Amino acid sequence: MIIDNRQKDKILAAYFAATNLSDAAAVFEAFVHRMHREGKYDRLKHWWDDMNALRTIRAAEHHIRSLPPETEPSSDPIEKLGVGKNGRVQFMEEPIGAIYSYYRTVLPQETQIKIAYDSLIERFMGFLQRKKYAIRLSENQLAYVLFVPDIDFQLIDEWQRFLEFVYSAEELYKSFTLFVNNWRLSNRKGGILGYVRFPSVTEDMRRWQAAFYIATLRRRVLKPDKRGEPDTDNRRTKKREDMTQILSKLHEQLQHQDLKLSFDRAEKLSRQFNTLGSSQVRNAKAEQQIRDIMVEPLHILTCPIAPLDKIKRASTREAGDRIVGKRQTYCYGCGNSFSPNERKQNFKGNLSANSFVFYAPSQRLQSGTGEERPSVCPDCLTVAFASPIKLVTGTIIVQLSTDEDSHSLSIEKYLRMLTLGELNLIAGRYLLINCPEFIDKHGGLIFVSKEIGVKQYALWRIAQILPVEALNNMYFTLFVDESEIQLETRHIVWLSHLSESFLSRITLKDHKNKNRLNAPLNQAIRLIQKDEVISAIHRLATAKPTEAKQLGDWSYSEKRGLEELREKHCELLEKSSNGDKQMMKQAEFYRHVAALTGLTYAYCDYVRGELRGKENVDTVQREVKKLIEKVVNPSFFNYEAADVLPGTRATMYCNDDNYFCYAQAKRLLEDTLKLDLSDREGRTDKGQESLTIFFDDILNAYAAISQKYYKKAQQRKLSYQLKLNLHAKFASLFNQKGD
Ligand SMILES: [Zn+2]
Repeated sequence: MIIDNRQKDKILAAYFAATNLSDAAAVFEAFVHRMHREGKYDRLKHWWDDMNALRTIRAAEHHIRSLPPETEPSSDPIEKLGVGKNGRVQFMEEPIGAIYSYYRTVLPQETQIKIAYDSLIERFMGFLQRKKYAIRLSENQLAYVLFVPDIDFQLIDEWQRFLEFVYSAEELYKSFTLFVNNWRLSNRKGGILGYVRFPSVTEDMRRWQAAFYIATLRRRVLKPDKRGEPDTDNRRTKKREDMTQILSKLHEQLQHQDLKLSFDRAEKLSRQFNTLGSSQVRNAKAEQQIRDIMVEPLHILTCPIAPLDKIKRASTREAGDRIVGKRQTYCYGCGNSFSPNERKQNFKGNLSANSFVFYAPSQRLQSGTGEERPSVCPDCLTVAFASPIKLVTGTIIVQLSTDEDSHSLSIEKYLRMLTLGELNLIAGRYLLINCPEFIDKHGGLIFVSKEIGVKQYALWRIAQILPVEALNNMYFTLFVDESEIQLETRHIVWLSHLSESFLSRITLKDHKNKNRLNAPLNQAIRLIQKDEVISAIHRLATAKPTEAKQLGDWSYSEKRGLEELREKHCELLEKSSNGDKQMMKQAEFYRHVAALTGLTYAYCDYVRGELRGKENVDTVQREVKKLIEKVVNPSFFNYEAADVLPGTRATMYCNDDNYFCYAQAKRLLEDTLKLDLSDREGRTDKGQESLTIFFDDILNAYAAISQKYYKKAQQRKLSYQLKLNLHAKFASLFNQKGD
């Protein structure tokens, strides 16, 4: 087995996390020293973070702090690492663990069940990292290669422990209870599902399922007799007594003391389901369901990854297809064959698709007619139960991924740390985002995503939910119905900045107190999608106060935020270009717009300063607007400015709200026009950098830039973007009320 140095580093990281460091202090320190020296300590810390190896991190950081400067690392412990043919790893002649390759045995095609398996395996990997200090050496969609610092590692034992964790009361509360309490599972309006039953893999899962049906039953019994009319007190008391009686009858029918205790706990848990949670399923035979759930034997869920020699090929066929043999059925979810009759002895529920497994479960079979539902094996049902990521109306599913080289925390861990609020659920690398925004249309409420487009809405919502510093180096895939759409990270980053400055909401109340769409924001989102950031800023900077926060003279942080956005606009175009010439050109174009903005802004601002105090607000606004209109032609611009100003000179200031345009203008003067600026630079009393410019600079800058954009359309676009930029920069002036 051949492994590279990076993988060797990973192996040592895992080994030290699992080892008593006092026995290996010298080699540990040499390893940490070398990683630190090579600038790889952040990466190392990230691996240890994933393992929750806090003790190891503390020891490493203590060592780094105590290192005398400029000491050479002693001999590199990586030299003492050897890997045998069988994957056994030796370190300093001792066996320290082994490299294991596992393959996915289940490869579903349908989005929802695919996500359920993906997120379960991802959680299992996270579990192995935390509990066994396992580290992933490589992975792809079919296989995982792990190093585990344990010579007796048994995957199946850990899988059993993992199931106890995933199907524990706490985890199921997050994945199952919260889910049914918040989202209607049936995609039909106000719809109710048939029985949804799942083979239980733990006692906790059994109790949650029973609790779900107890809650459903209670709701049926306590329901008011007539719609809308509350029961009388007597009636209500009678119903409560009925319910108590039903429960004690169920209790009596259970044979063993253990079961009775378990039932009592389920009854307590049933209080955790709210009105929606207890009205998701049909309830005519709830008592029978509860009895069955309580006595069914536990199901053994097969691990969906296995070593190569354990994979049974014979029984697998392409998932999504079905053949019914004499006694065998193929599962529509995973493609594995199973025997429904044999299973029936242990599990009384339906072995067929429901909304937990597939989106629109009854429309799956190509050959099927009407409501016939495809067969689904017990494993797929159980896996679907633990996944809160479902394609239900009113939610968006996004998968997050990062570069392998990214030094940020692992995604699962990161998502768990975020306070996403109860209504956004996570599982592995998947994020289920709630879409709580509606607008009034045709006398009813519709989801905003229906109106503006799911992709547009997803970009906006992610920008709202995730902090902007987390977005860099992340990639987003949106799941809509059965298709996957890549989202551009730069669009989300830009929207995040935009939203910080303007605090816009996607819906507004109109004068009749109805929800309506915030049209300027909708337009801004679409402009961002076309990489037109300046236009998007302008759209919101000129929106009404109800649509976007108005910029005023005091809006320092907002204006600073917008200048950062102008900078990020160019930077992220360059970063995303990946050698694409068209995109690099676009970035350069916007840097030129910024440079001309810097130069012309200085004159516009000077004109404003000259007139302020002498003239009323209306006149100041009119004169500045007039000057901005002239930026299409540098001679006209200078001519117009000369009308108000005493000379041909102005000063650019490198303020917070102008630093990017300032830097671009300065670069243009120095690098393109080859001017010596040393005697023009200065500092204000406050220490702010400044630069003196002249009318000639404007003429020369335009001349130099026009050479690059000789086509009419390009020139028009240049002056249009320049105007929008200046208008947005003077928004606080234009927002002032005249006398
Ligand atoms: Zn299956």
